[in-house]
Amino acid sequence: MIVLGIESTAHTLGIGVVNEEGRILADCKSVYVPEVGGIHPREAAEHHQKQLHVVLQDVFSETGVSLTEVKGIAYAQGPGLPPALRIGAVMARTLAKSLGVPLLGVNHCVAHIEQARYFCKAEKPLVVYLSGGNTQITMLEARRYRIFGETLDIALGNMLDVFARAANLTHPGGPKIEQLAKQAKGEYQELPYTVKGMDLAFSGLLTAAKRLLTNGSPLETICYSLQETSFAMVAEVVERALAHTGREEVIVTGGVAANARLREMLALVAEEQSAKFASVPPKYAGDNGSMIAYNGLLMLHAKTTTPLSKSKVRPKWRLDQIDIPWGE
Ligand code: AMP
Ligand code: MG
Repeated sequence: MIVLGIESTAHTLGIGVVNEEGRILADCKSVYVPEVGGIHPREAAEHHQKQLHVVLQDVFSETGVSLTEVKGIAYAQGPGLPPALRIGAVMARTLAKSLGVPLLGVNHCVAHIEQARYFCKAEKPLVVYLSGGNTQITMLEARRYRIFGETLDIALGNMLDVFARAANLTHPGGPKIEQLAKQAKGEYQELPYTVKGMDLAFSGLLTAAKRLLTNGSPLETICYSLQETSFAMVAEVVERALAHTGREEVIVTGGVAANARLREMLALVAEEQSAKFASVPPKYAGDNGSMIAYNGLLMLHAKTTTPLSKSKVRPKWRLDQIDIPWGE
């Protein structure tokens, strides 16, 4: 028995397959890269539509599985860009209907987290979810992901990408900023540090970093300072969340989890709070189809399938709005 999952919330069209135990049999993708600027929702959708059959073909040639073995079709129902989401949803409905198998509408954020829990073998972790569209510190409690802290404005990954664009670095900016920061030799320039209670804000930091750029500060120094400041903000909230909840595990996921300096800082905070630290493997930190397939598998086991009448995309679907039946 296998479950197929489709991810199409933003720039990535991903299709993955997992087996009954959740092991990944295939994880194929095609990523839309804007020629200039950030993600254009309609262009992303056009990319996904054009690449659908290519990626699906890759999945079947990679796994050697046949459509008859597929027992559920999962798709990222939200949150995300409406035109991009619709491409995945239409494909999922079509496949599920023609194969006569259940449709599984997955929340993209839950999928990132559940895949990280799977890889990290974490039972009840504090979860740090940092991506291009989301920045949340959360944990599962009584069948729901409770949000302890989150961004009040833009997501951490988005902040890095927008700064990178201002510095004429190509999208996605995070990895380029990470490389440049390593060349800074520890020169730090003061930047706004904004933690409000358990919440974070990054737009003031972004504006100030852009100003340093205009004033001619070395790009390496700004990248270093941007990382140190923003990651320290996240680390502060994580530390407090650990202290208050007494959780003994911390895991990090989302595209920004690929950053080695971020992982180093979070590991330090975890150690000081006597908690274990683990990260999703960098290969699966960003958006991927196998996380949707895995979440679909969990839903299938929990018998929470999605009827056609409730399969409409949910662009603003929040992590803390979802019942997690496997949570207890
Ligand atoms: P996602 O939305 O989960 O696909 O993650 C994409 C985000 O992760 C983008 O904002 C990237 O800039 C960011 N990202 C990817 N790799 C890194 C890295 N090494 N350091 C910082 N951010 C990264
Ligand atoms: Mg994501």
